[in-house]
This record gives sequence, C-alpha cells and structure tokens, in this order.
Amino acid sequence: MKGNFPVERFQQIQTPFYYYDTELLRQTLRAINAETSRHEGWHVHYAVKANVNPRLLTIIREAGLGADCVSGGEIEACVKAGFPGSKIVFAGVGKADWEINIGLDRDIFCFNVESIPELEVINELAAAKGKVARVAFRLNPNVGAHTHANITTGLAENKFGIAMRDMVPVIEHASQLKNVQVVGLHFHIGSQILDMGDFQALCNRINELQDELERHRIRVEHINVGGGLGVDYEHPNRVSIPDFKAYFDTYAKKLKLRPGQTLHFELGRAVVAQCGTLLTRTLFIKKGAVKQFAIVDAGFTDLIRPALYQAYHKIENISSDEPTEAYDVVGPICESTDVFAKQVDLNRTKRGDLLAIRSAGAYGEIMASQYNCRRLPQAYTSDEF
Ligand SMILES: *Cc1c(COP(=O)(O)O)cnc(C)c1O
Repeated sequence: MKGNFPVERFQQIQTPFYYYDTELLRQTLRAINAETSRHEGWHVHYAVKANVNPRLLTIIREAGLGADCVSGGEIEACVKAGFPGSKIVFAGVGKADWEINIGLDRDIFCFNVESIPELEVINELAAAKGKVARVAFRLNPNVGAHTHANITTGLAENKFGIAMRDMVPVIEHASQLKNVQVVGLHFHIGSQILDMGDFQALCNRINELQDELERHRIRVEHINVGGGLGVDYEHPNRVSIPDFKAYFDTYAKKLKLRPGQTLHFELGRAVVAQCGTLLTRTLFIKKGAVKQFAIVDAGFTDLIRPALYQAYHKIENISSDEPTEAYDVVGPICESTDVFAKQVDLNRTKRGDLLAIRSAGAYGEIMASQYNCRRLPQAYTSDEF
C-alpha cells in the first residue's frame, strides 16, 4: 500500500521538496485533544524543534497546543506564529543570556532549568528587568528508554537535567532567590519510544520524588513529563496516527498527581512525523557489480536521520507500478553515509521517477543543511494544492 499523493501536480515542482499533509496533521491534533480534554489541567506543548514550518506551527497553535522551545530562535519563531508567551516553555542545557532575556521579555510560562549556575543567571537577568521568572527543575530520572542510544536523554550518564539526589537542596536554594519562583518539575527520557513500560517507569520515579518532596513539605504546581512518543516508521499508511490513547492512559493510570497539580506534555515527533514526506527524483539507475543503486537528487542535507541515527524511512516509488526490484537508494553528496536505504524493494525504477521518503515530518526539514553548497529544500502543504 502506498500513500496518496497528487503525483501529477508534483511533476511541476523542483525536487527535492517536503510535502506536508495538513489534513493528517489536523486529524492527529484532534486525536491528541480527544484524549487530553478528558482530564482537567492537562496541557500539551508541541516540541518545536521537530519542525518549525510556519504553516504547521499555525495549525498546531489553532488546535490549542502550547510550545516547547529549546532556543531563543525557537521562541521567536513561536511568537511570530502567534503563540502567547503564557503557553511557551523553554528547555535546554545551555541557554545563552540573550536567549534567557527573550524568554523574560515574552513572560514565558516556564524556564525548564538544568543546573544551579543556570538558575542563578536567570535570577540575575530577571532581577535586572524587575521580573520574577517561573522555573521548573529538569530532573534526570535515570530511567532508560528502549530507543536508539543517541536519543536517550534520561540516564544518569546523559548531560541533561539535575541529579535526583540534588532535587531538594536545589529547590531549597531556589527559594532563597528573589527573582525566580519554582513552579514545577520537568522530565524528558528520550525520543521514538514505543514501549509504554518506559513511560510507566518514569511515572513510578516521579511518584517517588513527589513523596520525597512531601516529606520536605514542598509542593510544585505542575509536573512536566516531556515527550518522546514514537511513530510507526514501517507502516506510515496503516498507522498514520500514533496510539495516543495508550500513551495518555499510561499517565492517567500510573502518575499520582497532587490535588490541583497540572500535567504538561511536550510531544514533537508524534505530532508531525507522519504528515511529512520528502519527495525526490531519481537521477540515475546504476548497476554495480553486486547491487543496483537508485541515485536520487535528495541527500542527507535534506534528511539526515538515516545518516545520523541509522533511521529507517519507508520509501515508495510513486511513479511506477511495475514489479519490484531491490535498490540501494543513495544521494549525491560526497560522503559514504549519504544513503537513505539499502536493499529496499521499489517498483522498478527509472530516471525521472519520483520517490516518496515517508514519515519525514519530524527532524527532517529543520535539520537541513547547505553542505556541498546545496540549496535548502522547499516545503509545500497539501492545502496549497
Ligand atoms: C526533543 C524534546 C522533546 C520532544 O521529543 P519528541 O521525541 O519529539 O516527542 C520534548 N522535550 C524536550 C525537553 C526535548 O528536548
């Protein structure tokens, strides 16, 4: 089964380009809202680093989500797309002063703070502006996630977050500072997680930490559990919307919130991955000694995930219905890692055929580079057609 694409219209467009199915994005957002609206005080912040395409940001804002930013540039992109400061959270291990100042100027909902030195700088910069910054501490829960090693973030060995044993002293230290107010605890254990047991382990850890806080008579207003829900890269047509019910039900069942506490999520990939496709044209078919290559006009400058994380993306030849053959699909960049897939079955492919590289809406366009002096890929949305 292949995706449904306006192949005729695509013929006029210069490849490579990204194509976003905005109807699928809207359905995905409705599926999220259907689950979260059943719970009082649950909020989803879209993790903007997955994709900052302005049209997508607007649709996501219109669906009522907030934004999770990891840089000053992302905060600016969200403000431009109409997100109110009150719905923006700002995370990251290395926030520069100018970025913190943008957050302060926009009166963002919360800074997710990852160290004491950072807390002190936020306190100073807020004092200079006569403001009080809302902060949450990002704790490193030492919970492993069953995902690629490069995208786990919640292990003690990772650079992210504050160690659990420092939680109480850090909160007590913050309470001495006049220009910060501790409002929450923040966690994020990794990305492309499909095993709900990982999120359950996070819930258990948060429950323990909250018990410990209670012993110190500390209570925070909100818990932010980060994001990380994965998508089905193998079956983008059959499973085009992630299992949000299983994901949110895990938190509903396992996490013990205190009365009045709100719960925040930061989903990125699960919101935008499946609605995006990278379209590329076949330049040449090259028959090697042992295999054949489909050499295409997209490269890792357009979509780096296969080169960076050995990520799998389903590839479809949307110009051909001929019997399938095995190909290595490779880009034109002068690096051996510029390979989208090895030995994949495609309908027999010839020069000029359009290939659809699926599930490319998250960490695709936004990671594009100009290495080899290449042009950045263009992007189109289905409602422009
Ligand atoms: C990247 C990131 C997310 C989003 O992760 P996804 O796997 O795309 O859902 C959420 N929170 C933080 C702090 C992040 O760094």
